Amino acid sequence: MKNIKANRTFTVWRKYGWLLTFIIAFGGLYIHKLGLIVPFFVMLGLMITSLFNGRFWCGNVCPHGSWYDSILLKYSKNGEIPKGFKNIATIIVVFIIFACVLGSRVFKVFSNFSGLDLWDKFGFIFVTTYLVVLLISTPLALFFAPRVWCQFCPMGTIQKLFGKFGQITKISNNTNKKLTITDKNTCVKCKKCANVCPMQLEPYLNFNEENQFDDLNCIKCNTCVNNCPKNILTIK
Ligand code: SF4
Ligand code: SF4
Repeated sequence: MKNIKANRTFTVWRKYGWLLTFIIAFGGLYIHKLGLIVPFFVMLGLMITSLFNGRFWCGNVCPHGSWYDSILLKYSKNGEIPKGFKNIATIIVVFIIFACVLGSRVFKVFSNFSGLDLWDKFGFIFVTTYLVVLLISTPLALFFAPRVWCQFCPMGTIQKLFGKFGQITKISNNTNKKLTITDKNTCVKCKKCANVCPMQLEPYLNFNEENQFDDLNCIKCNTCVNNCPKNILTIK
């Protein structure tokens, strides 16, 4: 599939949100409490939004996502994402490693807690987590495609689980916005929506009976909407 580098940053936050990644990952090495932004803003935020609107956070709020789309896209080979990164086994293994490492570090901090520096130690766990993600995902983005990390990101996995839960329990019935085609018959199958998709999905082949693209991996980023030459795509 031909992958086209198309603009993906349609808001100020998506353009400059990556600065927060650097403030937490590098600033946090000196001011450990900066790491507290991760559990109390990032993790909490993505859990709540995913319950109501799937992976919206990944495509519109995630500071790492902004780094991939706003900065790394320009320098990335933007080739095909290898299937191994999308594999369910990869997703499960990464999630288990992440949960075990994070869980044991949090347990250690709270079991030896020594009063005043508790929040520094707790914050530092997330500073290093943010830094490690940056160090792994950046070369992957440059050598393969910007959103490789997002294929198996544990935060993405959490959002898919919460998104599914929201659908099953019908919590998200009135809030879950999906990529929608106004009329399948007017699609000329030019593949542009697939060629510009950061997650390398193929919406034009997968619209359901209700004319919606019901894929948990869709990050609702609007890139295909803004690039469809027939102007028949919306997120609603
Ligand atoms: S970009 Fe629009 S016209 Fe082209 S394949 Fe996708 S939905 Fe169809
Ligand atoms: S299908 Fe469209 S909205 Fe969904 S991730 Fe791909 S480009 Fe973004």
